[in-house]
Amino acid sequence: MPLTPPPLRNDCFSLPAGVDWTPVDEALALLRERLKRVVSSETLSLSAALGRVLAKDVIAKRSNPALPNTAVDGYGFAGSIAEGAHVMPLVKGRAAAGLAYEGTVPAGQAIRILTGAALPAGVETVILEEDVTLGKGEIAFRGPLKQGANTRKAGEDFNTGEAILTAGRVITPADLALAAAAGIDAFEVYLPLRVGVLSTGDELCEVGEMAAPGQIYDANRPMLLALLRQMGFVPVDLGRVADDRATLRARLDKAAFEVDVILTSGGASAGDEDHVSALLRESGALQEWRIALKPGRPLALALWNGVPIFGLPGNPVAALVCTLIFARPAMGQMAGANWQEPLGFDLPAAFAKRKKTGRREYLRARIRDGQVEVFKSEGSARISGLSWAEGLVELGDGALEIIPGHPVRFIPYDSFRL
Ligand code: AMP
Ligand code: MG
Repeated sequence: MPLTPPPLRNDCFSLPAGVDWTPVDEALALLRERLKRVVSSETLSLSAALGRVLAKDVIAKRSNPALPNTAVDGYGFAGSIAEGAHVMPLVKGRAAAGLAYEGTVPAGQAIRILTGAALPAGVETVILEEDVTLGKGEIAFRGPLKQGANTRKAGEDFNTGEAILTAGRVITPADLALAAAAGIDAFEVYLPLRVGVLSTGDELCEVGEMAAPGQIYDANRPMLLALLRQMGFVPVDLGRVADDRATLRARLDKAAFEVDVILTSGGASAGDEDHVSALLRESGALQEWRIALKPGRPLALALWNGVPIFGLPGNPVAALVCTLIFARPAMGQMAGANWQEPLGFDLPAAFAKRKKTGRREYLRARIRDGQVEVFKSEGSARISGLSWAEGLVELGDGALEIIPGHPVRFIPYDSFRL
């Protein structure tokens, strides 16, 4: 049975009354609590499921190893071996991976055995071939050797019936190996989240067109569509609209049938030409989140015919930061995935900076010689810095005085992939 989720609640973006600036972590906690999965599930073969979100726990159909086997090439026998020199006769034949030895190895005798071979009856212990001198029909070696040495127990990796992967996980290449080893040939996964991207602004023109003086090329749309693809969502190009409420309304009405989430950029503030926020406000669906964040405010959040809209700021740096920090984990959860925290690590700063308390800051950054460099300008209209950077530096909400050598948290762009 495909899992079909209920619709999102109308109040999923409402903020507590009287709140002025919302700290980043509170904004994230609200999104995490309110946004639920909106996609249903399907069954896919292993190879088709890479990058998808697991809809059900995966239960092993087979233990690994299924049988006790040898971890090395060598000679197998029963029990443990005392200290000192030993000589043991060899039985005829051998045990190799995939070719079981049918007989029983008598006590006090050894058998040639190769890595991965199931232990024949009568074999509990294996000695490495490098530790053995091979004679005619016998081997010589030195003890001691513990019982079970160089062998793997049945089920020591995982057992039949064990949950080897849990729902909400994004499937990796290693998961395919794990599932295959456990005898699984298909996964129940969620359908990928369809995310529409719409640019707004009278000043925008399309790449490939001639830009009139005063016009700028729409830089956000190609970036956002590409980001979404990297995150494992299905990007849907909703094009570009001028600052005109009727056109915008018509475009959103149509898009709400085609996608699960909409990202708009531009027009999200409260100015005269901020038609995204004006339209959403008019329709009663808007929540303006004044997030204590640089760059990034404001973020307009709304439901349009039940479809969540993230109204991103127009400038590309802020649009990228808001997408990575807010939209990504929120969309991940709508896609059925566990809440995703980006992986960052502390490294010494190669820069100096002083910041006041009250808001979190993200700087365009990269690592060189083990230190974190930041872009020469914090100007959020500098698109070149986005491309120069290989990640973001996250500076906490409080006041900070960073000097070169102080640890700062670097989050590589790559850790925002799903
Ligand atoms: P807005 O949020 O509409 O006030 O836009 C803020 C700034 O971002 C303005 O300088 C816009 O021209 C610019 N901007 C808006 N949308 C885009 C876009 N799609 N690509 C590049 N710049 C944009
Ligand atoms: Mg605008």
